[in-house]
Amino acid sequence: MSKSAFKYIQNKKAFFLFSVVLGILLVSASIFVSVHIAKNQAILKEASRLEVITNSVLDRMRSTHDQFVFFTNKNSQIPASEACSAANVRKMQEEDVSAFSIQAIGHITGNTIDCSSLEIFNGMNLGEPYRVDKDGNRVWASLKNRTINSYPYAVMERNGYVAILVPQHTIEALGSPEVAVGIFNVDHHVIFTSRGKINQQWIADYQGDKPKTIIDYTNKFIVYIAPNTTKMLAVVTAIPMSELSDEIKNFAVIFIPLGILIAVGLTLGFIYIAKNQSSYRSELLVALARNQFFLEYQPIIDLKSKSCVGAEALIRWRSPHDGLVRPDLFIPLAEESGLICQITHKVFELVENDMGETLRNNPHFHIGINVSAADLQSDHLILIIQNLIKNTGILSHQIIIEATETGLLNDGNALTLLKQIRDLGIQVAIDDFGTGYSSLSYLTKFELDYLKIDKTFVDAVDTDAVTGQVAFHIIEMAKSLNLEMVAEGVETERQAQVLIEHGVRYVQGWLYSKSLSAKDFIIYLQNNAKHQ
Ligand code: C2E
Ligand code: CA
Ligand code: CA
Repeated sequence: MSKSAFKYIQNKKAFFLFSVVLGILLVSASIFVSVHIAKNQAILKEASRLEVITNSVLDRMRSTHDQFVFFTNKNSQIPASEACSAANVRKMQEEDVSAFSIQAIGHITGNTIDCSSLEIFNGMNLGEPYRVDKDGNRVWASLKNRTINSYPYAVMERNGYVAILVPQHTIEALGSPEVAVGIFNVDHHVIFTSRGKINQQWIADYQGDKPKTIIDYTNKFIVYIAPNTTKMLAVVTAIPMSELSDEIKNFAVIFIPLGILIAVGLTLGFIYIAKNQSSYRSELLVALARNQFFLEYQPIIDLKSKSCVGAEALIRWRSPHDGLVRPDLFIPLAEESGLICQITHKVFELVENDMGETLRNNPHFHIGINVSAADLQSDHLILIIQNLIKNTGILSHQIIIEATETGLLNDGNALTLLKQIRDLGIQVAIDDFGTGYSSLSYLTKFELDYLKIDKTFVDAVDTDAVTGQVAFHIIEMAKSLNLEMVAEGVETERQAQVLIEHGVRYVQGWLYSKSLSAKDFIIYLQNNAKHQ
């Protein structure tokens, strides 16, 4: 949460108002989104229903075509002179009966049917064909014969034989009556049979390559189009969106309550987190005012001279309610509630009080101080460093600023600030390197003095784990960039040995010492400092 939002919610009334407004906004947004999802779901469901109907029509068309091919193949063996013999006409009549989607079959010479399984077609001149296919097959469409049927029929010819069929039968009795169905020619976009209203716009630019769903918001229709196997014909089906309202209701009863539930959950979550945070914030403010923070110092050892050359200052909070609180817990909260800079300030004050004299007396001794991302975004850090130097009279190189990679990554400002810090002669360490998202290129961008190898890598250096390999990679990288290395969390002799072998010079960890109170650390240093 941003700092300003946080200050805002400090005011209880405003916080209540903010929560109510947030709740209303989230609930309205969730209803809006739920209705939208319900509508989409209903549309998808209807579109798949159209697909099923379309496929049934295509199946019928395919089966008619198969019967036509089967019949013409069989008859093409018979010489033209025999085609209309009484025996062959009888055979055609038998075949006609078994081919249920074909009305009649017959033989044609030129454009005139010589004979057929249904006598009424005999001698009929069909005129010029509507279409001649690449393979020479001919098609007549939209023919009328008052004596047989009210529907127009079509004739397909192959090798002198014809099948007479009624396209309308292909689309009959499929789906509910509200669904419009049509078959059209892909080349000319001419609908030659249909049921219900098909809008010419839907099919106007259909190329027949693959099935297509159209949501026509202007005319409020859902449309589905698919080609047949030859891609010369296509089937179009459409349903008005008004048919969706029931479907939408069905989906809405699921999605709207779900959406509201999520919105209410989010609002309550917000209130919970904000309240918790604001109480943490006031607790931290009290801790600052009542001096509940103190520092411990963990020795940093130079493996070359086997002496203590520095210490890392680690903050502790003695809370009257919770006892000793670990920094892992309260530092992130301080960062979120915008108090971290005040805490860093406090750390510098504590270092000044605890270590001013020790630092002055040991000009080669340094102190590492952790800073957060927010510290690297304002000038306050420079000011408190300068104060520390001025008030204690120590040398600037005795201070090492420990910045995490996330802290450095956050803002372009960090780059300028680091440069200013280094120009003052202060040293900079990158902390927890490798645990975030940083890369080598990023390391070269910043001017640094030390790289702290995180405990997770140190733990792995004497194992076969991949992390161990990463550790060695990091070590090589640091060497190539001329960075000194400090390995953190060294707990075993074996780890120390491996690190020495790889050229790591500085270490800290329980193998040498845990973090100590200021008083204990000063005694430790007297016993372990390098004797010059
Ligand atoms: P860090 O900077 O990585 O500090 C090292 C942590 O590892 C410390 O935990 C230290 O006590 C612990 N440690 C050192 N050697 C060993 C070891 O051999 N084994 C094990 N298991 N742990 C070891 P601590 O003091 O709890 O600090 C945790 C983190 O809190 C620090 O990680 C740092 O990120 C943050 N922190 C501590 N003090 C400050 C502070 O003054 N300011 C800011 N901004 N962050 C701080
Ligand atoms: Ca550190
Ligand atoms: Ca670390």
